[in-house]
Amino acid sequence: MQHAEPTTRPQRKRLPHWLRLPLPASDSFTKTRGLLADLRLHTVCESAKCPNHWECWSQGTATFMIAGDRCTRACGFCAVTTAKPLPLDPGEPARVAEAARRMGLRHVVITAVARDDLDDGGAGHFRQTIEAVRAMRPDMIIEVLTPDFLDREPALESVIAARPHIFNHNLETVRRLTPSVRSRATYDRSLSVLKKVKARCGGTIHTKSGLMLGLGESEDELFEALNDLRGVGCDILTLGQYLQPTLHHLEVQEFVTPEKFAEYGRLGARLGFVHVASGPLVRSSYHADEFVPVR
Ligand code: SF4
Repeated sequence: MQHAEPTTRPQRKRLPHWLRLPLPASDSFTKTRGLLADLRLHTVCESAKCPNHWECWSQGTATFMIAGDRCTRACGFCAVTTAKPLPLDPGEPARVAEAARRMGLRHVVITAVARDDLDDGGAGHFRQTIEAVRAMRPDMIIEVLTPDFLDREPALESVIAARPHIFNHNLETVRRLTPSVRSRATYDRSLSVLKKVKARCGGTIHTKSGLMLGLGESEDELFEALNDLRGVGCDILTLGQYLQPTLHHLEVQEFVTPEKFAEYGRLGARLGFVHVASGPLVRSSYHADEFVPVR
């Protein structure tokens, strides 16, 4: 029997079998990658090291990340680069619309880095991107996954005015863990964002939020978060397994089993979410087109 040498280097936990994914070569993956490079667009799929990168791009879908690839925050779970951002690219909204057209998407998901350096947090850029996509394809379902805009009402109003079908803002984790998981955000601010959007959209926009599990939350804390989301009228819920993107990020505390995810999904439905996606590989935008909003 060999003895492993003790190591001082941090290590990542070994993945359980349900999280080990094949990485098949695929022409459609290469095509998606080429199209995005051609249009000089960023995606959260790549920047955040999403585990579904191969699957989604092979199926010809991706989540566009606008306002650059440098984030002004440094959340402990997220692999997006933290750095001083560059000025906004005024041509980006049109290129996102062009990409959505070329990819033949019927449901587009647009997210952004947090731009706390801008007065509107990048809300105007979201608005322009929504408008560009709608001008290109009026029938496209448009989902935005936004930062909290520091809960500033003019910024929220700006995005709401562009009338996305789905407004997603992630709670990410339970109340107790929020300061260590996303230190520049607050749990109550995120709830406030969702509440304001719901109050102002007159029911024409579906609100959506999600949490990562496995960061050390208890079931009671999770249930509290789900109830809090329903309390602000959140319509759609996503629950997925947190995966440590690099050794410099928060460690996984627990791998939640697929059976537990299914149980939490049933609980979400009982609580009144109109659509719930709950599973180890679920991310905010994973199979986002499975929910078809009606206006
Ligand atoms: S789940 Fe979302 S972020 Fe991940 S690869 Fe798919 S589209 Fe991209």
